[in-house]
Amino acid sequence: MIESISVAREKLKTLAGARSSRGFFLTITLSTSRLDDWRQFAPTFLNSEFNRLTNERATPKEEKRVLQDDLQRVLDVLKYEVPPETQGLAAFADGGAGMFEQMELPLRLVNRLVVEPSPYVRPVVHALSLLEPFVLVRVSNDDSSIYLLNEWRLAQEDDFAGPHLRSTDRQTGELAVKEYYAAARVDQLEELHHKEVATALAKLLESSGVRRVALCAQHDIAKAFLRLLPTAVAAKVVAEIPWDAAATTNQMLVTAREAVETARRKEMEALAARINEGLGSGGRGVAGFAEVLGALNRHQVQKLLVDRNYRVPGWRCKDCDWVALATAVRCPDCAGGVVPIADAVGELVRLAVLQNAFVEVGEDMPLLDELGGVAGVLRYA
Ligand SMILES: [Zn+2]
Repeated sequence: MIESISVAREKLKTLAGARSSRGFFLTITLSTSRLDDWRQFAPTFLNSEFNRLTNERATPKEEKRVLQDDLQRVLDVLKYEVPPETQGLAAFADGGAGMFEQMELPLRLVNRLVVEPSPYVRPVVHALSLLEPFVLVRVSNDDSSIYLLNEWRLAQEDDFAGPHLRSTDRQTGELAVKEYYAAARVDQLEELHHKEVATALAKLLESSGVRRVALCAQHDIAKAFLRLLPTAVAAKVVAEIPWDAAATTNQMLVTAREAVETARRKEMEALAARINEGLGSGGRGVAGFAEVLGALNRHQVQKLLVDRNYRVPGWRCKDCDWVALATAVRCPDCAGGVVPIADAVGELVRLAVLQNAFVEVGEDMPLLDELGGVAGVLRYA
């Protein structure tokens, strides 16, 4: 089953902090989209990557046997357990010490086989960043709806009938229909309806942890509705889309998704600008691999902004979290053994997840390129 985003986040955090008693994790990510003919391709790819990697590193026999078992387990998952709606599969195994985790995602992942001291969580972090859920609230005087869009599709819809559509005592709540209409002027009833929607929206945001809301309403209604929202809720309304009575629900959701995505991009650009302004001593910005790593080592990073395509090879310690772009004979922190890793930026992402820092993933951002592909906002200067 495709993960709900909150379950996936929990798993991710556990994985980011996981230690293997054998000192290595197998991570496999694959596209399982029908477009990629993966049933044919994936087993061949995985076996050949496995052989290449273990030969290149002259992996000891015992370690290779354990890894082979883990690989077999992933191959079995591929054979029997991938539901058709899955677009990407991530699997993590800790060398036979008992941990095996698989995550099915509605997003294609790059095909990769990694054997490193920690699970390679970066592809899943990227996917979750792109799949972040949002809420669309459609408000009118007659009837309103709140949609929760999760994992790229509709997860929940709550409908609210306005005063004009209420015709039973049950719908009017405490008052009988007759009294309900006699009790107040129409505009007051409409406001009551908007208030009901506003309360439900606030509740949903609190229970779901969703950070972005799109609002669809006629201009005047949108203005009135925004005034009814608590400040913290109104701050989450990042996009307004025009009211179109002729649009289907699906068209409206597509428009909302685009508007939220545009807002997200703008937020990230503002974040990069904020980091840029905060660079230097006394500021709250850090940029580039070395500075970000230093800040992570001091547990200082509040938000990490990373370019989706920035990957550089590096080295890390088998026994602790030491990571660097240049190798060392022994780990300078604990004197443990040092091993090569394919993506040292992935280590920054893993450390950020482990420290509960917020990770934003950007793409095609000129300012982020200037900042060195990875940058952060500090919790304190
Ligand atoms: Zn170390």
